[in-house]
Amino acid sequence: MTGRPGGAATLRPIGWSADGRSHHVPGRYLVRIPEAGPDGVLRARVERLVLGLPGARSARTNPRTGRLLVYYDPDATGPDDIDRLLAQILSGEPAPPAGAAGRPLPAWHARPADAVVADLRTHPRLGLTRAEAAWRLRRTGPNAIRPEDPPGAWQRFLRQLNEPMVALLLGVAGLSAALGQVLDAVVVVGIVVVNGVIGALQEGRAAEALAHLERLSAPVARVVREGRLEVVPAEMLVPGDVVAVRAGDRVPADLRLLRATGLAAEEAALTGEPAPVPKGTRPVPVCTPLAERSPLLFMGTHVTAGRGRGVVVATGMATEMGRIAALLAGAAPAPLLLQQRMQRLVAPIVRATVAAAAVLFGLGLLRGTPAGAMLLASLSTAVAALPEGLPVSVSVATAAAAYRMGGRLAVARQPAAVETLGSCQVICTDKTGTLTTGRMSVEAVYAAGTFWLRSGPSGPGGVPAGFARAGPEPVQAGADDLRFALRVGILCSDTRLAAMPPADGDPTEVALLQAAQAVGLDITRERIGCPRLREWPFSSDSRQMAVLCREPDGGPALYVKGAPEDVLPRLSRERVGGEEVPLGPAGRAAAARAVRQMARAGLRVLALAYRPAHLPEDELVLAGIAGLWDPPRPEVPEALRRCREAGIRVVMLTGDHPETARTLGRRLGILDGGGVLLTGTEIDRMDDGTLAAVAGRLQVCARVTPHHKLRVVRALQRLGLAVAMTGDGVNDAPAVRAADTGIAMGRSGTDITRAAADLTLLDDNFASIVAAVEEGRAAFQNIRRTVRYTLVTNAAEVAAMVGAVALGLPPPLLPVQLLWVNLVCDGLPALALAVDRPGPDLMTRPPVPPGESLLEPGAARSLLLQGLLAGAGMLGTFALLLRHGAGLAAARTGALAALVLTKLAYLSGCRRDPRTGAAPPPNRLLRASTAASGALLLATLYVPGVGRIFGTVPLAPARWAPIGGLVAAQHLVGRLFEAGPPAPPRPSPQQEG
Ligand code: ADP
Ligand code: MG
Repeated sequence: MTGRPGGAATLRPIGWSADGRSHHVPGRYLVRIPEAGPDGVLRARVERLVLGLPGARSARTNPRTGRLLVYYDPDATGPDDIDRLLAQILSGEPAPPAGAAGRPLPAWHARPADAVVADLRTHPRLGLTRAEAAWRLRRTGPNAIRPEDPPGAWQRFLRQLNEPMVALLLGVAGLSAALGQVLDAVVVVGIVVVNGVIGALQEGRAAEALAHLERLSAPVARVVREGRLEVVPAEMLVPGDVVAVRAGDRVPADLRLLRATGLAAEEAALTGEPAPVPKGTRPVPVCTPLAERSPLLFMGTHVTAGRGRGVVVATGMATEMGRIAALLAGAAPAPLLLQQRMQRLVAPIVRATVAAAAVLFGLGLLRGTPAGAMLLASLSTAVAALPEGLPVSVSVATAAAAYRMGGRLAVARQPAAVETLGSCQVICTDKTGTLTTGRMSVEAVYAAGTFWLRSGPSGPGGVPAGFARAGPEPVQAGADDLRFALRVGILCSDTRLAAMPPADGDPTEVALLQAAQAVGLDITRERIGCPRLREWPFSSDSRQMAVLCREPDGGPALYVKGAPEDVLPRLSRERVGGEEVPLGPAGRAAAARAVRQMARAGLRVLALAYRPAHLPEDELVLAGIAGLWDPPRPEVPEALRRCREAGIRVVMLTGDHPETARTLGRRLGILDGGGVLLTGTEIDRMDDGTLAAVAGRLQVCARVTPHHKLRVVRALQRLGLAVAMTGDGVNDAPAVRAADTGIAMGRSGTDITRAAADLTLLDDNFASIVAAVEEGRAAFQNIRRTVRYTLVTNAAEVAAMVGAVALGLPPPLLPVQLLWVNLVCDGLPALALAVDRPGPDLMTRPPVPPGESLLEPGAARSLLLQGLLAGAGMLGTFALLLRHGAGLAAARTGALAALVLTKLAYLSGCRRDPRTGAAPPPNRLLRASTAASGALLLATLYVPGVGRIFGTVPLAPARWAPIGGLVAAQHLVGRLFEAGPPAPPRPSPQQEG
């Protein structure tokens, strides 16, 4: 044989001499497979497959030693065949049919179904055995698309280093080393490393949260194993599994169809072609393009019609979708708002630093200071000016918010998305299931000119339980017409009612089925009596569903349910008293009136129609009109009120009737006098410019399809607004991706939408979006505080350095001391700032415009002022100590202490709102980190040996008095200035947008 393929497992011949198998006895084959000892699955597989060889009589593996003993008929098979088979098993290749070893991977679409089945060693009706499936799963790995290999810790770390400040810091380190300041160089490199590690850890945590979410919402597949249909997580599928699919399913793996009835699939995700393509079982030529490979169903696409069975030919990254995902993995995502803001803040600082250091160097030389000393001073200034701690502080603040949010409501794909959501100005939200509970009930049915309203559990005598007749109209028909209408709902739906009350499935269909049960219909009996021949499933684009069934008398009948606008125009008759009578203008008007009446009451309206076998093709008979009530979620009004207060506009999007949307919009307060309601048809008639002009006042969109959603997002963005958009269906993915924050539904949403979204909502609840906005705002506020806190130090340091050069003094702090302050005094308190809970006033102000910097308006001034004061205090301490005979080292130590104390005093100041001056109560961590920073300062000064590293000396107690005095004085002056003029009145949220 031609060398064993390198698998994890190995064959080890026993009793074989060097020349091969001289001890081999014809008819008896012995080999040791060490792995097979402990591994029951492997043992069973080996034995079964070997027994499958022609002529094999028995195969036994010793569970202790892994010895496999095979008895075979030497005329039918030989040791080579067993060798080859074992090598294949152990290397993990799917075992090929006997005699076909070494064939290249087949083009599955070009092979007949039975050949595919044979290739994959499965059975078209019985499927794989559980043991075989377990074995194959181990070989192929889980059937899942990992869009990118989650970056390893090392990769994540390297990604953190890709920043301009890091480059500059490394430059500083290099220069320091060149100047002999080895310790400084080491510390700077240390900073870079610590920054990178923390950033990488944060990212890792976010990735974990996402993985957790994916597990929560794992898709399932219906697979035949050992002859029985079972539901398993789609991750568990393996090549060779026989899978059943039906309309509405997401295809769980790449399948070669074995059976197909009326099957069609929508493959836009793969081919870009939105129209469903018909599928069958007949092979097509090898060179057929992907979009036309009709005997294949591709993972991640959707079955839009019919049902079928197929054998899994590829799973996970080996599928067509997986191949695309692998291609996409290289594409870098667009930088998030926070990253842009960081860039905008840090880039000028970096540039200014370089310029300042150069100017300082020149000035010093002009004054006659030796170049070496001046270089050191410039370097120190550069270190002083760069906010080394900022990236860490900011990523800590962001991650804290993402983490807090993830526990409760929503999982962000990247921590920074939380902050983007905090800045959103418009939330475009689904109605059904997000603003409403999605638990519907049929409240009214119009059938044969009669209104039936839902009553208590048992109706008055003569009326079917659950429904009571209403309306003054003379009644020609009885309960039979009502029953017939609801029977249409039974036949034309895919949902099954679970035995327990929380039924699953499409809530619209659940409500119809429950109503049908309430009037005494037997769902199962009706469905069995009328088997389905063909189906056209519901989609939010067509807004209707139709099925073709075989009636008990043999004739085919069509049943339709869907939005009245789409169904009513096609009607020619109406069912009254069991007869299909022509639908005159009066009847048509009455039906339209019934629709309006229900919609105005806020009900979701569905028309139920059919065509019996004896009527010609173009006739359609109205069976009834159903009105469904989907109650608003109780927490939504409060959430909407908070949005109004927070200056966030809410736009409701729904596929429902405009009147239904209007009623609900009014009731919830989304739609008011000045607002605009647009229907999908109206949007279609507008060009983008017109739509953008109206978008400013848009409040409700009704009868929209997913592509309208995309246009609405774009129109709002054209107005310069930051838009958050929810979506659940497959076709919502483009709109969700286009939005500044795309929000997917964790429960009802599709996997594709989730992949496109920045945020996944765990409970589909609108109130959670608002809570997430609040977290986002808190995160942003905390980031801003952190930025201010960090930058004040840098301002102070630069002021002191420049001042010292101007006064002809030596630099008051050494580079290593500057680094100490920038890191120790930034890192710890920044942690504390990051965990500040959202304050009560956070949701009472308008959103921060996307263009606004990380420094709030007015903050730069206050920052400069505080920085100058702190710098003066520090330089003053330095000069004072020098003047009073302290050595240079002691004076520097004093300056260091002054700077640290100033910073700690400022810690509570930076949490104050720069406009109002209001400060939140201190949090526990803040006190602790203040104390810890103080203790660290003392440790640096007084623990023996530490001083040598940082160039500090223990300060005599008497020296603390002037330091304390100076710090207190400048702090008081700072407070005085900070108080400033009274805050301007807040702009009212109504002015927004
Ligand atoms: P929404 O955007 O509010 O979720 P849908 O897209 O679910 O709205 O529904 C839009 C319209 O389509 C409904 O008003 C109803 O008339 C119709 N419809 C909804 N569900 C079904 C269904 N399962 N079968 C047929 N028609 C439906
Ligand atoms: Mg919907």
